[in-house]
Amino acid sequence: MVNGQVILKQGRDKNVRAHHPWVFSGAVQHVKGKPQSGETVEVRTAGGDLLGVGAWSPASQIQVRLWAFTEEPIDRDFFTRRIQQALAYRQQLGIPQRNSGYRLINAESDGLPGVVVDVFGDWLVMQALTTGAEFWKHTIADALLDVIPAKGIYERSDVDVRKKEGLETTVGILKGEAQPAHIDIVEEGRHYRVDVVNGHKTGFYLDQRDNRSVLQQYAAGKTVLNCFSYTGGFSIAALHGGAEKAINIDASQPALDIAADTAALNGFAPEKMEHICGDVFKLLREYRNEGRQFDMVVLDPPKFAENRNQLEKAARGYKDINLLGFKLLRPGGLLFTFSCSGLMESGLFQKIVADAAVDAGCDARILRKLDQATDHPTRLAFPEGYYLKGLVCQK
Ligand code: SAH
Repeated sequence: MVNGQVILKQGRDKNVRAHHPWVFSGAVQHVKGKPQSGETVEVRTAGGDLLGVGAWSPASQIQVRLWAFTEEPIDRDFFTRRIQQALAYRQQLGIPQRNSGYRLINAESDGLPGVVVDVFGDWLVMQALTTGAEFWKHTIADALLDVIPAKGIYERSDVDVRKKEGLETTVGILKGEAQPAHIDIVEEGRHYRVDVVNGHKTGFYLDQRDNRSVLQQYAAGKTVLNCFSYTGGFSIAALHGGAEKAINIDASQPALDIAADTAALNGFAPEKMEHICGDVFKLLREYRNEGRQFDMVVLDPPKFAENRNQLEKAARGYKDINLLGFKLLRPGGLLFTFSCSGLMESGLFQKIVADAAVDAGCDARILRKLDQATDHPTRLAFPEGYYLKGLVCQK
């Protein structure tokens, strides 16, 4: 059911015509009807042409997020179709066949703005980031269970972006049975332990799957320093690739405890993995002062830039750790360096890494460029969906 019409200002229909799914408040001429938060509205040009249907979000600067660029009804069947399409794409790549943990719905890029769904074994973890996702979340949950025979759906909508939508954060069981304290998943032959309740995001950084597989190929015989390790994702991949040893550094002791369990789950002896709880910025300086050297260094920091004002500070942060990373590498060693800040564009990131190499006094080369895993696609009309980029550099 449609509950109102959002009429765009003259000449402000270009983005939506190009299938960008967001309508900013500044583009809205007026609203007909009295839509409630999250309800479905039509989006029309000043001349009255229908551009699509979307979710009304009065508190946000993004006042409509389009579900569809047609007149189609938004209902359980609509969500079922989108979920089926998302699953079909991933099945075509063999992702669910080889991985019991994967991203099933990647929001806008799977045609479902504000909806994130990750599969972890027999459970689904869902995030409803926007008013539209919130309004429909029980319908979406039912549609998910029609498509995927999961035992339950756990909600992790404890994200700050909800505040911009006028929504409180919320977590808990949305459908079905409660999940066990830990879910063990398989990723390309590697085993990982996931805590969907207390872990970061939905519990695990699925977006690094393909990059973990790349690192695995380079790891034989190497000693790997895995900075910002979380639960040891890259370290486990390194050990599967025949690494001599992996050292995790993270500020979170609970994450490191899971890393230790995960090593055991994969059958690796405890001495193969070291766990250091502390601040990467501080520890890398100490290691440099001690003259320590590694064959591989991984730098996968959290998002340094949440908005444009933080970009400059973020750039300094990336420069700092990358400089230290290069210093800690043996000649010929490999740096796996990442940025998950969407605002940090690939070109700028590469330039920062290049500057860091110069300041570290090394003439490094890029062996490979990396990005987010294939279950995190980016809609061409929605470049905001691209955020994770990485470089493999050789010293
Ligand atoms: N590479 C990981 C994901 C890293 S997420 C994977 O593949 O799973 C970023 C991690 O950085 C988080 O676990 C967070 O606890 C940690 N972190 C954030 N700031 C830190 C700091 N200053 N020092 C050490 N760890 C930090």
